Amino acid sequence: MAWKVTVLPGDGIGPEVTDEAVKVLKASGADIEFEFALVGGAAYDASGHPLPEETVEACKRCDAVLMGAVGGPRWDKLEPVTLRPEVGALLPLRRELGLFANLRPAKTMEALVHASPLKDGRNLIDLVVVRELTGGIYFGTPRGRRDDGNTAFDTCVYSRDEVRRIAECGFQIARTRSNRIVSVDKANVLETSRLWREVVEETAGVYQDVSLSHLLVDNCAMQIVRDPSQFDVILTENMFGDILSDIASMATGSLGLLPSASLGSAAGTRTFGLYEPVHGSAPDIAGQGRANPLAMILSAAMMLRHSLDSADHADRIENAVESALCERLRTADIFENDTKLVTTSEMGDAVVAKLV
Ligand code: NAD
Repeated sequence: MAWKVTVLPGDGIGPEVTDEAVKVLKASGADIEFEFALVGGAAYDASGHPLPEETVEACKRCDAVLMGAVGGPRWDKLEPVTLRPEVGALLPLRRELGLFANLRPAKTMEALVHASPLKDGRNLIDLVVVRELTGGIYFGTPRGRRDDGNTAFDTCVYSRDEVRRIAECGFQIARTRSNRIVSVDKANVLETSRLWREVVEETAGVYQDVSLSHLLVDNCAMQIVRDPSQFDVILTENMFGDILSDIASMATGSLGLLPSASLGSAAGTRTFGLYEPVHGSAPDIAGQGRANPLAMILSAAMMLRHSLDSADHADRIENAVESALCERLRTADIFENDTKLVTTSEMGDAVVAKLV
């Protein structure tokens, strides 16, 4: 029976890069039935809400969700804030689907080693950020609010169980890589971080074969810029993971290259997940054929591996991406002298042509 994938193209460059990922998935021969649904500003324009009930239902009845990106200046000032694409669609969708684990790999592509701002061997990056996705300050109750014009607050909350399940996910991923994990927190200041560290230490007792170290988040940010090649698995909470994964991604050369997976149960077994590029809807380049579709295409490959039991198809797509880059084809964000500038859909076509 065919796998069922719900596709949420979203806004800005979301539909452009999603088209290319669907094109590549179809050409890969993976047995998938696609269902399309609206999310974000596009859904708000059509139905008055950024996350319509039909979209949530479509996500709940499939094996995996492939999402572009949401948001843009047209919807940034909507009131109440729950009508805005990120607050009203992204966060509740993660909650509704129980997606507590966010995997963000950052890996240097051989052909793009010069695109990294880091030089001299410090640019050979192959790490994954395992980020907790449904807790912490983005979801704390009481919800963030303003008491008066001059005072605002947000609440950071973590329970022992929330920390334990993401820690287990991190240790399991470390076992599939180099058996090393760095847990990142701010335990010198935050009580939630002290609980985080305590639970991660307890979990480490069950994974004696994995070596654990701790870093404070400010030091970790500095270390990623100083020498990202020292990291393999970085385990961290929601907001720290959001920021650190963007720093790590840029060290590979472009935000347009980085995929992500949001999973509902520990990785390693087939599981439901939502797959999307790390980047946003890039309204500044939307509609111009300038978006790099590779992050989206690599997200589709992660989907094949983690949710659709199709690691072979995932390998073929990842190899095809590397081959297209080795032919010196580049979208505008990674263009250099002596390379050939291609549009979003030409890059998708090139990946299809390289599938073997
Ligand atoms: P962004 O990631 O959309 O863009 C940042 C910069 O990177 C821009 O200059 C953009 O042109 C470039 N860029 C991003 N993706 C690219 C790609 N695939 N190819 C080439 N260049 C690319 O971040 P932003 O500008 O801060 O946010 C724009 C909108 O996206 C906002 O409304 C924001 O809320 C939303 N957003 C959505 C998500 C999501 O849907 N998961 C994530 C982040 C931001």
